[in-house]
Amino acid sequence: MDYIKITNLEVFAHHGVFPEENENGQNFYVNAKLYLSTRSAGVSDELSTSVDYGQVCERIHSHMCQHTYKLIETAAEQVAAEIFECYPLVERLQLEICKPNAPITLPFENVSVTIERGWQRAFVAFGSNMGDKRAYIEEALKAIEEHKQIRVKKVSDFYETKPYGGVEQEDFLNGVVMFDTLLYPKELLVFLQDLEKRAGRERLVHWGPRTLDLDILFYGSRILCEEDLTVPHPDMKNRDFVLKPMAEIAPHFIHPVYGKSMKEMLQELNQKES
Ligand code: ATP
Ligand code: CA
Ligand code: CA
Repeated sequence: MDYIKITNLEVFAHHGVFPEENENGQNFYVNAKLYLSTRSAGVSDELSTSVDYGQVCERIHSHMCQHTYKLIETAAEQVAAEIFECYPLVERLQLEICKPNAPITLPFENVSVTIERGWQRAFVAFGSNMGDKRAYIEEALKAIEEHKQIRVKKVSDFYETKPYGGVEQEDFLNGVVMFDTLLYPKELLVFLQDLEKRAGRERLVHWGPRTLDLDILFYGSRILCEEDLTVPHPDMKNRDFVLKPMAEIAPHFIHPVYGKSMKEMLQELNQKES
């Protein structure tokens, strides 16, 4: 991918663990690689179709001057967050903060922290089968849309479905939302679980009735097998209430484990069931 590169931007600031550093300040140097498509700028010669690197430098400079962090890790994280917030064209960012005058009592040339952050495409399934189902779902979608580190791209129709898993209960309303996010998978899970809690979700019976259920279906093409998080969601090949909305909003999205598109997976499920 194309990128804009800023090298050794000098910033006099006060970050550091030691009080002397916070008082006296020192020079920091910032390197940044902003990944974005420069194609339309290249063709149109219009600054508005790209990112103004002069402005980016000013932003990095003023953020680093106006805040005092103990760690350059934090400085890098916060500067990155501000760049993503202000420049929607930036898809990925590599940021290095150098501290050549760090308080180290041995001869050294430089110490630095480099981070890489970027927007990731995620799909989340939503479902409700208690109370005002539509209202619970709409409330959750609104909170997802309002999150600063989430950009909603598509929301499927809401599908009425029969309950799954053998527990006697009301019909469900289900669907899928597709968004880009800067949140890490675990952070996304915590956010979604908080929305479930806000909707008054109680976990009483496995696969039992719930005001709101939010499952991470995909996080880019990442495969995660952790105690509290399995991605892609393991049971989707058997669930038409997941595959139908997926096939509606992203028919050609390829399942990273099965290597099949959502449309194909839905067709296979339909064949199995008929
Ligand atoms: P299912 O996951 O089969 O649809 P469920 O949604 O009813 O069942 P929950 O009671 O909502 O299950 O969640 C149980 C646990 O599943 C959660 O505490 C969470 O840590 C874990 N979990 C694992 N993978 C995921 C995922 N991809 N998305 C959401 N939760 C997950
Ligand atoms: Ca579920
Ligand atoms: Ca769940």
